[in-house]
Amino acid sequence: MAEGQDRLFSVSQGEFTLDRYPCLARETLRAWDAADEYLLYHLAELGMGGGSVLVVNDGFGALTVALAGARSAQWVVQTQSDSWISHSGTRANLEGNVVSTGGVSMLDNLQTPAPFDVLLFKVPKSLAQLEDQLYRLRPHLRADTVIVGAGMVKQIHTSTLKLCERLIGPTRTSLARRKARLIHCDLDATLEPDAHPYPTRYTLEDTNLELSNHAALFSREQLDIGTRFLLEHLPRSPQARCIVDLGCGNGVLGIAAGRHHHEASLVFTDESAMAIASTRENVEAAFGGERDVTFHWTDGLDGVEPGSADLILCNPPFHQQQIVGDAVSWRMFQQARKVLRPGGSLWVVGNRHLGYHTKLRRMFGNGEVIASNPQFVILRATKTAT
Ligand code: SAM
Repeated sequence: MAEGQDRLFSVSQGEFTLDRYPCLARETLRAWDAADEYLLYHLAELGMGGGSVLVVNDGFGALTVALAGARSAQWVVQTQSDSWISHSGTRANLEGNVVSTGGVSMLDNLQTPAPFDVLLFKVPKSLAQLEDQLYRLRPHLRADTVIVGAGMVKQIHTSTLKLCERLIGPTRTSLARRKARLIHCDLDATLEPDAHPYPTRYTLEDTNLELSNHAALFSREQLDIGTRFLLEHLPRSPQARCIVDLGCGNGVLGIAAGRHHHEASLVFTDESAMAIASTRENVEAAFGGERDVTFHWTDGLDGVEPGSADLILCNPPFHQQQIVGDAVSWRMFQQARKVLRPGGSLWVVGNRHLGYHTKLRRMFGNGEVIASNPQFVILRATKTAT
């Protein structure tokens, strides 16, 4: 976990101790950014005594905790995020600061919020996700709804502001403060945005299967080239009884493996609620109700039974929220080792430069190159009986 001062979140609403999720022993990053501080400062400046607020895309709950635990205002807080990591971080930080979790409603992006007076949104990494969120939220806005977005200067682009103008109404930005900016929007009730463009669909090559992709999904317009490479080399293990698609996105890897392994049960995991929703739809389209399938909205393989899997397929993510790095893949490989049966194997596709083979060899004591091309490598690591 981050140390002393780096955990102390001191804002107009009070002082709170915040951690990222999962809470790591040698964490060096804080659980909030200057955009959170700016947003809370602005809200305090407005002098509102409280009301109902919808917080969208709160990383680890900094906004939610500060508002639900505010000493000088009474806020009824709903917090909405697609991310399991964010939900878990928010819950842990509410509990850690003895702020009742009962008073806060936690929603994923597909759930409809109750009426609110104030909308606070953090700018997410993906513009498509923000577009989808604004489409969904617009019908819940009123002329007097206070609407304020926030992000670091490098995360707010002309396209972000144009999107707000197109889907909400007149939009202006604040001066930058510690490299963060606010976005102020007013509802223009006369706007008539085009039809909601999500989910998008594409047909999986060499099949007649149409895959549905909600807005938050990785590679939602077409098959990712790394995924395509792994599909070309998918394992055939007639004895496999349980196949896991780890970080499943739209479920393409698990569905393709399921088509070759008719008897195997299938397990799909992702930390994005929209990924799990898309996978459910795609599994239903591919197999009807015929398969033994489990879906986990979770962090990696948390909640999947240890020693249960014969095969785990993974095209690992290279960022968690706004932070790029290999911490997630490292954690996923550790979890995979626990969830595999002895003799079971993890198949990973990745960019050559990511060096997954070193990690896998260190963790599993083996790591075989199954195929490679100038850009990607497919690796197999097998859990030995020890
Ligand atoms: N398997 C899909 C494919 O090949 O098209 C998606 C691969 S994409 C590179 C990585 C996926 O991992 C994303 O769907 C992302 O939401 C998911 N992910 C990111 N962090 C995760 C975590 N901590 N636990 C589970 N899934 C995660």
